[in-house]
Amino acid sequence: MVERKPLVAGNWKMNGLRADGLALARGIAERARQRHACELLVCPPATLIAAVGDALAGSGVALGGQDCHAEPKGAFTGGISAEMLQDAGCSHAIVGHSERRHTCGETDADVRAKTLAAWRAGLVAIVCVGETRLEREAGGALAVVAAQLAGSLPDGASADKLVVAYEPVWAIGTGLTPTLRDVAEMHSFIRHQLASRYGEAGQGVRVLYGGSVKPANAKEVLAAENVDGALVGGASLVAGQFLAIAGACRP
Ligand code: PEP
Repeated sequence: MVERKPLVAGNWKMNGLRADGLALARGIAERARQRHACELLVCPPATLIAAVGDALAGSGVALGGQDCHAEPKGAFTGGISAEMLQDAGCSHAIVGHSERRHTCGETDADVRAKTLAAWRAGLVAIVCVGETRLEREAGGALAVVAAQLAGSLPDGASADKLVVAYEPVWAIGTGLTPTLRDVAEMHSFIRHQLASRYGEAGQGVRVLYGGSVKPANAKEVLAAENVDGALVGGASLVAGQFLAIAGACRP
């Protein structure tokens, strides 16, 4: 049985000017010095990555990007490559977040290319998948996630290269969460998919839950079977809440 240390990752999204981003990073760094049963990661907006990296130095909190371009460099105005994230101090990159799939039209093929780009730059790719409310209501959640995994994940994954985040689209930023039974069902389904795709190499790949995780529900969500941590949006913008979620990880 492979041990998977939980990961609690904060996705700041498009929030944070320099002063409040730095105050948040310092607040997290200070509290992160206590021991936690999980690894911690923050993904600030690109403009703050370097400064947040300085503020987190020595705290053990890892740094990630919220997206990356598939190409290493070139004429892609506004793009940020995985190599640039790595150069700025990142160890992780979120790819395929539903806000990018749905508002930027990113396809599974795009997410797969970005995952390969993250790997090329030596980053851990956090690949997000999840169904919409209509898809769940139509009984199609498992099939949707299976198709996203098949299309977004390249061959050759292992625990040091890949984290999967299951984020039901309808639970992101809404305060709604699936039942614990639905969370456990989806996570065990994803684990199965990883096992049949990658065999033993997939056993250590962590599967995070994301969607309205707060201090009030973190303990039960993180204790659900096959949940290896959380991807946190709104609550990661308050140091005390983010660390309270981290503190809810099972020892
Ligand atoms: C997210 O954006 O990945 C997310 C899970 O957001 P929230 O926690 O705010 O629902």
